[in-house]
Amino acid sequence: MGAPLSSWPWAGLGAYKYVLYGPLVAQVAQAWREQGGAPTDSWCLHLLLLLALRSLTHQLWFSYANMLFFTRRRRVVPDGVDFRQIDAEWDWDNMVIMQTLLGAMAISSPVFPAVSELRAWDPRGWAVALLLHVAVSEPGFRWAHRALHRAPLFSRYHSKHHSSPVTQPLTSAYGTPLESLVLTLAMAAPLAGAFMAGAGSVSLVYGHVLAFDYLRCMGYSNVEVISHRAFRAFPLLRYLIYTPST
Ligand SMILES: [Zn+2]
Repeated sequence: MGAPLSSWPWAGLGAYKYVLYGPLVAQVAQAWREQGGAPTDSWCLHLLLLLALRSLTHQLWFSYANMLFFTRRRRVVPDGVDFRQIDAEWDWDNMVIMQTLLGAMAISSPVFPAVSELRAWDPRGWAVALLLHVAVSEPGFRWAHRALHRAPLFSRYHSKHHSSPVTQPLTSAYGTPLESLVLTLAMAAPLAGAFMAGAGSVSLVYGHVLAFDYLRCMGYSNVEVISHRAFRAFPLLRYLIYTPST
């Protein structure tokens, strides 16, 4: 048996792991039947919509990065992805499953506000989230990532993530439960802060999570989307945005 949190508890389920979404789907189906229409006030529905949009974000970046007729000249590492890596990263969505399940636990907590209590949009919440992202998530994740590169954590928890010779968008989500938990904390801190300040909104949940996924997929895509000339002209840009070559 490996170290705790070094392997996914549902690894043995294979494709049946998607049964884990069953309780959420059942709750949405029940609310849909009772309300006679889409239960837009149900966090379960929003969690499932977010799951679909997150999967689509990863899939679209994956497709884009593999359009060699379009991206060949801007690839950072010219090599292709081999079958070993494709097999290893096949279960990249374990992190998304874990975050959806943690989200389901959070929404059932009595302190979590109902959708009907929230605004669709609240600029204060976006400001709090941005501040926390810069002041807490970025330095916190950087520190935790450094710790993961030290012995014995690296060999137990982080070496797999760096075993991919050529990164691709799916590599961004590929890892052990422990490193996925670290990333989840970095993602959740700005949202938690905005909600605790009473400025959370539905659009903030969607926007923050999808922007996080989008930027990570871009960083791992192995395709330089932003020209190196832009970084030469504006050196501070490299502190604001993470791309495959910076
Ligand atoms: Zn690392």
